[in-house]
Amino acid sequence: MLKNMYQKIQNNQRITSDEGLTLLQKTPLLELGELASIVRYRKNPKPQVTFVVDTNPNYTNVCTIDCIFCAFYRHPGEDGEYTYTVDHLIQQFKESAAKGVTTVLLQGGVNPNLPFDFYLELVRRTRKEVPEIYPHFFSVSEIVGMSEVSGLSIGEVLQQLWDAGMRSLPGGGAEILSDRVKKKISNKKETADLWIDVMRRAHKIGYKSTATMMYGHIETEEEIIEHLERIRSLQNETAGFTAFIPWSFKPGNTPLEKIIPHYASPTRYLQILALSRIYLDNFPHVQASWFSEGKKIGQVALHFGADDFGGTLLEENVHAAANYVSKTNTEEVIDIIRQAGFIPVQRTTLYEIVKVYGN
Ligand code: SF4
Repeated sequence: MLKNMYQKIQNNQRITSDEGLTLLQKTPLLELGELASIVRYRKNPKPQVTFVVDTNPNYTNVCTIDCIFCAFYRHPGEDGEYTYTVDHLIQQFKESAAKGVTTVLLQGGVNPNLPFDFYLELVRRTRKEVPEIYPHFFSVSEIVGMSEVSGLSIGEVLQQLWDAGMRSLPGGGAEILSDRVKKKISNKKETADLWIDVMRRAHKIGYKSTATMMYGHIETEEEIIEHLERIRSLQNETAGFTAFIPWSFKPGNTPLEKIIPHYASPTRYLQILALSRIYLDNFPHVQASWFSEGKKIGQVALHFGADDFGGTLLEENVHAAANYVSKTNTEEVIDIIRQAGFIPVQRTTLYEIVKVYGN
């Protein structure tokens, strides 16, 4: 069976969910990496690896969703809560732009005290006052929160944000797209179906987005395949995903730490990454998560199917709240990519080439 499956992958034929599970459970890691590399070079034949100069601030840490894997949020009124004004954020974006940042990946908290106008004003002013910055704002959970606060439908929320100037959404909040898992780790969050539906509506308006997966907690291997199957099916329908980004759960300071105290291993990461590159045959890009898995594993990931090194993440608070801190800068990212044997290419949020750095 393995041999037939390898043949299928080499012949550019789609694998089924049963085959995906077999690949995950039975294929030796290095063979999986070789198969993933075949798919990677079929999709992106040049030995180039892209990256974006970005930052990942948070406009609020106030949240009422209570995900048990999260160490970042505070309840309304709790010590340490914060919500920045639009003025403050615009100033922050200007400072980031002056450092060469082109993408701001901005997320909350799902803060029930913020009116929908806050978000619209933020997008409009970002477009007008900091045109160098591409607003890659708001995960699905926040879009659902805006719909609840405003009384508008999800489609109307997305349309008004689009009219204000947004064109892409980050793919956070998916975790594992299985209702069993979601009920256990984030039971106040949108269901797996709703996550898919928000992305579907966004893609149909014209948005591009990424898709993510946070594994290494209570999910089964079947549920990992379920997740990949759901996003592959949606991509068939909309072609709206630019990239897939898996990362492992970071337990520090989270309620889930009592049950899952350790990170998933680097070999597990490489397995999941390679599997996703093979399974998601309709995704143009797969990102290496240097930030969550470490820079060395980030380099190795480039030989396990990833063709993108993600962002420079000049600011990051969510993993930091779980005592997981990793920093880099543009020069280091260029070096890391070169040392892994690839040509670094700076890109925009939507994967347009900004600069090829050469060997
Ligand atoms: S992961 Fe997001 S939605 Fe969940 S508690 Fe943390 S901030 Fe809130």
